[in-house]
Amino acid sequence: MLTAIVGINWGDEGKGRMVDLLSSDYDIIVRYQGGNNAGHTVVNNKGRFILNLLPSGILRENTVNVMGPGMVIDLEHLCGEIENLRSKGIKISKDNLIISDKATICLPYHRLLDNLEEDRLKDKKFGSTRRGIAPVYGDKYMKKTIRMGELANPVTLNNRLASIVEWKNLLIQSYGSAPIDAAEIFEWLSKYGNPLKEYITDTSIFFNAAVNANKRIMFEAQLGALRDIDYGIFPYTSSSSTIAAYAPIGAGAPYAKLDEVVGIMKAYSSCVGEGPFVVEMSGQEATALREAGGEYGAATGRPRRVGAFDVVASRYGARVQGATSLALTKLDVLAYMDKIPVCTAYEIDGKQTVDFVTGETLDAAKPVIRYFDGFKCDISKCRKKSDLPVNALKYIEYIQKAVGTRIKYVSVGPERDDYILFD
Ligand code: GDP
Repeated sequence: MLTAIVGINWGDEGKGRMVDLLSSDYDIIVRYQGGNNAGHTVVNNKGRFILNLLPSGILRENTVNVMGPGMVIDLEHLCGEIENLRSKGIKISKDNLIISDKATICLPYHRLLDNLEEDRLKDKKFGSTRRGIAPVYGDKYMKKTIRMGELANPVTLNNRLASIVEWKNLLIQSYGSAPIDAAEIFEWLSKYGNPLKEYITDTSIFFNAAVNANKRIMFEAQLGALRDIDYGIFPYTSSSSTIAAYAPIGAGAPYAKLDEVVGIMKAYSSCVGEGPFVVEMSGQEATALREAGGEYGAATGRPRRVGAFDVVASRYGARVQGATSLALTKLDVLAYMDKIPVCTAYEIDGKQTVDFVTGETLDAAKPVIRYFDGFKCDISKCRKKSDLPVNALKYIEYIQKAVGTRIKYVSVGPERDDYILFD
């Protein structure tokens, strides 16, 4: 059984929480793209955890967690994350964590370059998390960075690093910044790479055996469909492929076929960083929703932009993800609203459309808003469809029909059991 759990919107849909819930049915959990530029927040009986790099299955016993070749890994951040989890009693060993030898290392100068460029852009910035993700993916495709497997051979690594750093300094110095020293980078690689060496392996061999043994594998995405480098709101996207079709490739099992794609979709919208966001609320309306939903970035603490549920963007997200079912999250957050707004279409140049658009056309789009009666009560203890107030049911059923994909789970709180099996 191969399942991908992916985001339908702009990210922060509650994927971490759903992976934590559903991971009990899986033997292996894999992260297949991205780095520490986003965070999953998971609350369970052991505490509250923010995971930036480690797959969410790390919080479960007897689950093997894989960091795939599609990832970019900041070694210092990963060492810190492992240490932090260990201090909270989570066991991490090579029995439950493996890292692909083909995963790319995000180096300190990638962070530096991200900052230099974001500062250069000033008010035209892209809203980068400044974690070095765009520079490191750029270098990956230039074939000028280091992969995890190279840590095994320090002599070759040192030689290659010297040449790469020489090249990189051409750019760094052109920003007016001091050149970097290859020896310092090598030292950093040794300091944070050596403790990780025991986890590094050829994950394609591991997957071959796992797929042949019919193991249950879950692919865990970071960020949503609208942040995908190809299909998202370019250039306000991430630098990797967030969509389900990439999951087997980024995980180390390019030949594998997914059986299921569970799309995580929030009952309202949120968006961190810059870029077009048609449904954006402002003023008191935005503050109330941001506070109710605790919408602050898990990786950066930045307040997120918030808005009504967006049928147009979500329909598109579900389609590009090839979602076979959906989980609607954070429905409980809407309890305070007298009327729940939903964006049912975009108006562009006086014409209404339900088809998502990108580029400048998206900048011109205005939301067409319809209001649903609020349910005005705490639904966080509801565990069955029949426990839900009728106005909550009407809202869910409208969304299901409008998005065109079946809603299988409704999440009504952050904890593991706060959900309803909807169909
Ligand atoms: P992710 O990157 O998609 O996992 O998203 P976040 O890290 O932003 O997680 C979403 C936040 O909402 C976390 O703080 C979760 O604990 C919380 N959360 C997830 N699902 C629900 C829900 O159904 N209701 C409420 N109230 N909170 C939720």
